[in-house]
Parts: sequence; structure tokens; C-alpha cells
Amino acid sequence: MAMSPQRTVDTGANFRHPLYQVLLETPGLTVGTAALDDLLTWGLTNAMWIFPMATSCCGIEFMATAASRVDIDRMGVIVRATPRQADVMVVAGTITTKMAPRVLKLWEQMPEPKWCVAMGSCAISGDFYRNLYSVVPGVDTFMPVDVYVPGCPPNPEALMHGMLRLQEKIQRQRRGEVVVPEVNPGLMKVTQPSVPRLTEPTRSPEQTLAQERASDNPTADEESAPLEVAAGPAPQVAPLVGGDFAALLAELGVTELPADGPPVIPLAQHLELARRLKALGYRQLVTMVATHWLAGKGRKGADPAEPEHFELTTAVRTIGPGSKVAAWSVRLAPDEPVLTLSGVFAGADWQEREQFDLLGVRFAGHPDLRRLMQTENATTFPLRRDFPADAPAPPWR
Ligand code: SF4
Repeated sequence: MAMSPQRTVDTGANFRHPLYQVLLETPGLTVGTAALDDLLTWGLTNAMWIFPMATSCCGIEFMATAASRVDIDRMGVIVRATPRQADVMVVAGTITTKMAPRVLKLWEQMPEPKWCVAMGSCAISGDFYRNLYSVVPGVDTFMPVDVYVPGCPPNPEALMHGMLRLQEKIQRQRRGEVVVPEVNPGLMKVTQPSVPRLTEPTRSPEQTLAQERASDNPTADEESAPLEVAAGPAPQVAPLVGGDFAALLAELGVTELPADGPPVIPLAQHLELARRLKALGYRQLVTMVATHWLAGKGRKGADPAEPEHFELTTAVRTIGPGSKVAAWSVRLAPDEPVLTLSGVFAGADWQEREQFDLLGVRFAGHPDLRRLMQTENATTFPLRRDFPADAPAPPWR
């Protein structure tokens, strides 16, 4: 029969050292050191400086905790805008996969001893965003959490209670007690993330290492190649002519104005139309938004033989009283580039980056076509219709 290994607990009773014996026998010294330790613990737990990792609505409740009603200052809590002088990180709000390496980096810059409070459902489990491609399903998937403060949002009193629980935990640790880590209240089957939490037995050291490496250099990932941007022709400069929107469309050969959306113009006329409209006084770019249609799908009544495509819609308006709006669409195949409008409307720069990042629309001639909202090394396009909702994104979700 296999014997289980015997664990021996060292109680310290057999510890012998001349200096130790002298200290033990010195009258009053043990009382003095115990009192000193209590004093240090009192000082430690009543001077917790917080680094606020406040990203969204919970951050407002966090700020209210410092206001007169709760006045968290009375616990010796001071909010510091630098991790180097803070003891406690309060993560108050949603953390995305793009932020996660930066949060980890900030956490690592805090000196020991340090503690983390996860404030609100988003920090605890991702809350109702947890199935979103970009949200981390709980910060304890990449950094340790000492206290969970549930709620959406938790009110200032709840955060105060969390800080009191943290004080209690630190006092017990300093007394040498074994303190069982708090259980994430979101740890239910339905909210299990694809990345195991730090406290779970399935968590592997490789996972932690991958996160640390990604945190060192969040823009580099050896395993995912950067997205290649298709080179396209440089924007063409065409002569500007007058006329109103309908006349311009007619000039471009577009006579059919559909009832269920903007008119679809030839792809080659996209830049030209924008230039002419701007010359007519349509000086503000309102929006550029693309829709991804799978094969056989499209606008209402689409032909079943319709191939997969994007429909990119642009809207511009005149400024001032009686403002007029002009909107049009172009259709393009998934790998087909469309000329950038960034040379005509400055605001097209980031709007085109957004469509590139989330759908993969290529804008030829764009001066800086990089990812905008997702991590720099992302390889997916989450707003395409065939994107799986709860997609894992190692090493963060
Ligand atoms: S938990 Fe609720 S209140 Fe807090 S950040 Fe998330 S959505 Fe906002």
C-alpha cells in the first residue's frame, strides 16, 4: 500500500539559539515586541494608500467614497495617482484585453506588501460584458485579488466594507494566521472563463508566464503575426464640380434611390463623391460604418446568390441652419480595398481605422491604418457576422 508522505509542522518549540534565549529571558521584552508589532499593524492597516484603477461607472462610486458621507480618508486611505506609492489597487470598472497588460504592469510597479480589491461585477467576472470579445472575464484571471466587493455598482458603503475586510485580513495575516483566499462570487459554472483564475487548480504556470511576457511588451506577440494591410492605389485627385446631391448621383449614373437605405454608388466613385460634396458645403463627416453580409444575405430582399460582401455607408452634412445630410453606400468584396477619405475629411482617419479594426475593411491610401480598439496584435474581426461571440483571446480571456 502506498504511504502518503508525512507532513511535519515546525512549531518553533525546538528552536535554540543563544541570542533567542537571551531575548526570551529579558524581562518584558516579549511584551514590548508584541506591542510594537500591534503598533506596526495598526499603522499598516490605517495608512492604506490606494492606486485607483477606475475605468468606468464603478469609478464614480469609488470617487464618491472619498466624499463627505463615507469619507474614506478617516481610515487613513489616500488615493495616489502613482503605483509606486500605493499599497492597494482598487480595480473599479471593466477591464478589456487591451488594458489587461497595462493593468498588470501597473500592479507589478506597486511595492510589496500590496493588495488588490476588485470592485464591482465587471472587475470580478466581466459581468454582462464577459461574453464580449474584448473584455477580461475577471481581473483574477491575471492578477491576485484579496477582496471582492460585489455589486453593479457597489455603493461607497460597500467599498468601505471591503476596505474594512481588507484591514481584518491584514491583521490576521500579521498575527500569523492562515487566511483562506476569498472565493470569487462570480465563480459559477456559467461564468467560468476560458482562462483559469489564479486560484484555480487548472491554472498552469505557462499561462501566468504568457501574461507576464505580454505585459512586458503589449504590442508584441511572437505567436500572432501582425495583420497585413493590402496596398492599394493612392487617392486620385479629380476636378471638382458643382450641383446638388441628387444631381451628383445622376452624374455618377445612380438613378435608383432605394427606400430601405442610402443609394449604392460604384466603388470607384466613393472618393470623388466625397470631394464634390465637400465642395458643395457638406463639410462635416457624420459617420462611416460598414456592415458585413455573408453569402446569400444583404439588404431586404437580397438575391440568394449574393456573394459575401461589405456595405460601407458614409454620411456627411452641411453645417449651420437648415443642415442637409447626404449619405451613400459602396459595396466591396471582403478583400477589396476602398479609397480612403482621410484626405478629404480629417475625421475619416479614425473612423476608417475603426472599420478596419472591427471588420477588416481595407482603406487604400490611409496614412496610418492600424488597430484602434482591439489589442495591437489582434488577428480577428469581431464585428463580422461569423465571429463567435465568446471567443477566447489568450492569454487574457
Ligand atoms: S459593475 Fe456595473 S457599475 Fe461597475 S463598471 Fe461594471 S457595469 Fe459599470
